[in-house]
Amino acid sequence: MVDIKQNYSLKELNSYGFNYSAEFFCEGNSVEECHEFIDFCLKKKKPIKCFGEGTNVVLTKNIEGGVLRVSIPGRVKGENIVNFGAGENWNEVVLWSLENKLFGLENLALIPGTVGAAPVQNIGAYGEEISSTLISLEAINLKTNELICMNNAECKFSYRDSIFKLENNDLLISSIQLKLSKEPKTNTSYKSLNNYLIRDDIDPDYATPFQVCRAVTSIRNKILPNHKDEPNVGSFFKNLTVKKENLDELNNKISGLPYYKNTDGLTYKVPVAYLIENAGWKGHKEGNVRVSERHALVLIADKGATSDELLGLSSAITEDIYEKTQIKIEIEPEVI
Ligand SMILES: Cc1cc2nc3c(=O)[nH]c(=O)nc-3n(C[C@H](O)[C@H](O)[C@H](O)COP(=O)(O)OP(=O)(O)OC[C@H]3O[C@@H](n4cnc5c(N)ncnc54)[C@H](O)[C@@H]3O)c2cc1C
Repeated sequence: MVDIKQNYSLKELNSYGFNYSAEFFCEGNSVEECHEFIDFCLKKKKPIKCFGEGTNVVLTKNIEGGVLRVSIPGRVKGENIVNFGAGENWNEVVLWSLENKLFGLENLALIPGTVGAAPVQNIGAYGEEISSTLISLEAINLKTNELICMNNAECKFSYRDSIFKLENNDLLISSIQLKLSKEPKTNTSYKSLNNYLIRDDIDPDYATPFQVCRAVTSIRNKILPNHKDEPNVGSFFKNLTVKKENLDELNNKISGLPYYKNTDGLTYKVPVAYLIENAGWKGHKEGNVRVSERHALVLIADKGATSDELLGLSSAITEDIYEKTQIKIEIEPEVI
C-alpha cells in the first residue's frame, strides 16, 4: 500500500520554500505506486498535480486534491538509446550519459529538476533543447489511469513549451527515451559558450563534450544564483521569439538590442534580461523579494517573502517593460 499523507506541507518541495500544503500527498516511487495514488484520487474525485523537485513552480495557495511527487527511478542504456525514469535528477543523468560515452546532453548540464519535468517546458540552454534528443516518452493519463506512449511530434514542443503545459493537460510523465550520439560532436555555437571556450584556450570547433559540459557548468555557476542559497526558479521570464519584421521594429525602439538567430533560421531570440536590465530593475529590491544582481531574469525570494510579494514584483516589471517598449513579456514558471 502506497503511503498517502494528508494536509502535507510542500515547503521542502518548492525551491521558493513557500509553505502551502497538499490535501493529499504521495511520493510515487514506481509506476505502480503512481497508479495506486491516481486511483485513490479518482475514487475521491480529486484533481492531481504532479511535482518533481519544485524548481519551476510558484505556489500561491494550499492545493486541493492530490499532489504526486514523481520519484520513479531508472537508467537503461542501449547502443545509443537511453531510457530514464521520471524521478531521476536531470543533471545526474547528463553526467551518467557522458560517463557512458553517449553525447548530446552536455549543453543542458546543471539544469535543476527531474527527468519527468524536463519535457514539460522543453528545457533548454546554450543552444540546445531536450526536444532535439527525445524520441518518445511514457505517460499516465490522470483521468483514466492508463499508461500511454507519445512520440516527439505528439509532445508539440516549442520554445519552453509543450503539450504538457496546456491548461487541461492531464498527463504524468513516467519515463523518457532519448537518442544520443556515440560521436563526440558538440554544439558550441552559443555566443557565451563559444567565448568561454576561447578564453580557456579551447578551439570551439574541436571542443569535446566533456569540455563543453565543464564550460557550461562553470558559466552557470558564475552567472546564476544557486536556488538552495538564494531561492529562485531560474529564469522567471521567457525570452522573446520574434520574426524578422518584428525584430526590425524592436531595433528601432530599443538601441543596442542584442538578438540571436534561432536554429529554424526564420526567427530570432531577444534576451528579455536586456530589457529588464535596461529598464533599471537589475538588483532592485522590494520588501523581501528582489531581482538578482547577477542575472536580471532571476527573481529571488528572501527569508519571510510571500508569493504575493513575488508576483507583485513580477507584475511591476511586466507593466514597466510594456510601458517602455509595448512588449508583453511572459513568465516561465507555473503559478499554482
Ligand atoms: C537555478 C535554476 C536554473 C534553471 N535553469 C534552467 C535552464 O537553463 N533551462 C530551463 O529550461 N529551465 C531552467 N530552470 C527551470 C527548471 O530547472 C526546469 O523547468 C526543470 O525541468 C523543473 O524540474 P522540476 O523537477 O523541479 O519540476 P517542478 O518544478 O516540480 O515542476 C515543473 C512543472 O512540471 C510539471 N511536472 C513535474 N514533474 C512532472 C511529471 N513527471 N509529469 C508531468 N508533469 C510534471 C509540474 O506540474 C509543473 O507544471 C532553472 C531553475 C533554477 C532554479
